[in-house]
Amino acid sequence: MNHPAMPAAAFARPIPEGLADELAARFGERFTRAAAVCLQHGRDESCYEPIAPDAVVFAHSTEDVLAVVKLCAQFQVPVIPYGTGSSLEGHLLAIRGGISLDVSEMKAVLAINAEDLTATVEAGVTRKELNDALHGTGLFFPIDPGADASLGGMSATRASGTNAVRYGTMRENVVALTVVTAAGKVIRTARRAKKSSAGYDLTRIFVGSEGTLGVITEVTVRLYPLPEAISAAVCNFADVDSAVRCVIETIQAGIPIARVEFLDTACVRAVNHFSKLTLRESPLLLFEFHGSPSSVAEQAESVQNLARENGGTDFEWATRPEDRTRLWTARHNAYFAGLQMRPGSRAITTDVCVPISQLAQSISQTNEDLAASQLASMIVGHVGDGNYHVMLLIEPGSAADLEEAEAINGRLVSRAIAQDGTCTGEHGVGLHKMAFLEEEHGADALDLMRELKRAFDPQNILNPGKIVSLD
Ligand SMILES: Cc1cc2nc3c(=O)[nH]c(=O)nc-3n(C[C@H](O)[C@H](O)[C@H](O)COP(=O)(O)OP(=O)(O)OC[C@H]3O[C@@H](n4cnc5c(N)ncnc54)[C@H](O)[C@@H]3O)c2cc1C
Repeated sequence: MNHPAMPAAAFARPIPEGLADELAARFGERFTRAAAVCLQHGRDESCYEPIAPDAVVFAHSTEDVLAVVKLCAQFQVPVIPYGTGSSLEGHLLAIRGGISLDVSEMKAVLAINAEDLTATVEAGVTRKELNDALHGTGLFFPIDPGADASLGGMSATRASGTNAVRYGTMRENVVALTVVTAAGKVIRTARRAKKSSAGYDLTRIFVGSEGTLGVITEVTVRLYPLPEAISAAVCNFADVDSAVRCVIETIQAGIPIARVEFLDTACVRAVNHFSKLTLRESPLLLFEFHGSPSSVAEQAESVQNLARENGGTDFEWATRPEDRTRLWTARHNAYFAGLQMRPGSRAITTDVCVPISQLAQSISQTNEDLAASQLASMIVGHVGDGNYHVMLLIEPGSAADLEEAEAINGRLVSRAIAQDGTCTGEHGVGLHKMAFLEEEHGADALDLMRELKRAFDPQNILNPGKIVSLD
C-alpha cells in the first residue's frame, strides 16, 4: 500500500553508467549500489514505504561532498543528503532516484571555543557525541530530538526537543554553517560573532531547508554552561485540560522552566510498559528546572503552586542524575513505547504547534476528534512551546486506517493554522506536510519559496520533490 501523499516514483531513472564509473573510481568501497544499503537509505521513521536511491556514497570530508555534488550536477542526477535517517516525514525517500550522500562518517569535532560558548563540528557528529566531547568543559549542547540525530540533519530539519522551551531550537542555536551549494561552491554562512547585520541571513535559509538548497558539511552551534542545580519532577492531573492550563499559566508567568513535557494517559501507560516505570496512569507533566540551587527551588515552588491550583498532585522529585536520566530516556522512547501498544503497527505522527494561548483549545478539540475514531492513539508534547504530537497507530496495509489517520491530521492542521499555528513545529515538511504549506503560508509566499529553490538549485538536483514541488 502506498501513501496517498506519495508522488509517483515514475520519473526516477537509473543513474548513468558514466556517473557510476566516476564515483566508483573516486570513492572505491565508499560508493555502493548494494540493494540492502540503498534500501536502508531510502527509508526514514515515517509510515511511508521506502524508496531506495540508486546508489549511496559515504563522504568523509567537505571535498568528498563537493566532488559528489559537482558530478551529480554534471549528470543532472538527484543528491539526497543523509544524516542518521531519523526523520519522520518522508524526507529521505528517493522519489526521483539518484545518490544518497551519507555524511554520517564525518565525525570530527573541529573546535570547542569554550570562552565563546561555541563548538564547530562536522555534519555527521550526533548530539550525544557532541555532549560527550564537551565532557569536562562545564558546557553542554541542549537541543535533544528523541533520536540521537546528526547535527547536519538537525540543522537541516530545524529540529528541537524537550529543552527548546528554555534554550530554543536549531534556529536559535546554529551560529554558522559550511555548505556545499548546487553550483559546486563551498560557502560559510556567517562568522562566530554573537550578532551580525551583514547582509541576508544565509544561515537561517539553510536551517530547515531539508537538503533541498545545499549540503551542510560543518555546523557551528551555541553551547551553554551546565546548570549548577537540576531538578526534575513529575506531576499528575485529573484531566488533560488541567495539565495544559498549568503549563499555559507557567509560561505566561515567565517562569524559566527548562523542560515541560505532557503525556496523556495512553502515553503514560505505554511508557510504563516499555520502560518498566511505575508512573501514575493519568495525564502528567514532566518538569525540569535549571539554575542556581535557590532559583531552582523558587521556580519549583511557583510551578507547584500553579499545579495545585489546577488540581495537580504534589511533585514527585527525581533529583539523582540516574533517576532523571531514566525519566528522560523513557520520554525520548515514547515513540517506540507507542508502537508497542500494538505490535506490528505503523505510526502516523502529527506535529502541530500553536500559540500558547490556543493550546488548551487545540488539544481539547483534538481529543474530541480522537474519541470519535477507532484508531489507537496517544498524545505527547513539548507543550511549553505549544507543540504536541498525536501518534496514530495504523495497521500496515490498511487503506482505511491510513485514510482515517490522515483525515484526523488534516483537521488538526487546519485548526492549528486557523489558530495562527503551524503544520509542523519541529519535524519539518518532507513529503508529508507539503500539502499544507499553501494553507499555512499563502500562494504568494509559496511561490517565493519556489523561486528561492530555483535560485539555489536551478537544475533541481538537491533532494528534489521535497518541501516544494517545482513540477
Ligand atoms: C523517536 C524519535 C523521536 C524524535 N523526536 C524529535 C523531537 O523531539 N524533535 C525533533 O525536532 N525531531 C524529532 N525527531 C525527528 C528527527 O530526529 C529529526 O528530524 C532530526 O533532526 C533528523 O536528523 P537526522 O540526522 O536523522 O537527519 P536525516 O533523517 O538523515 O535527514 C533529515 C533531512 O535532513 C537532510 N539532511 C541530513 N543531513 C544533511 C546535511 N548534512 N546537509 C543538508 N541536509 C541534510 C536530509 O536530506 C533530510 O531531508 C524524532 C525522531 C524519532 C525517530
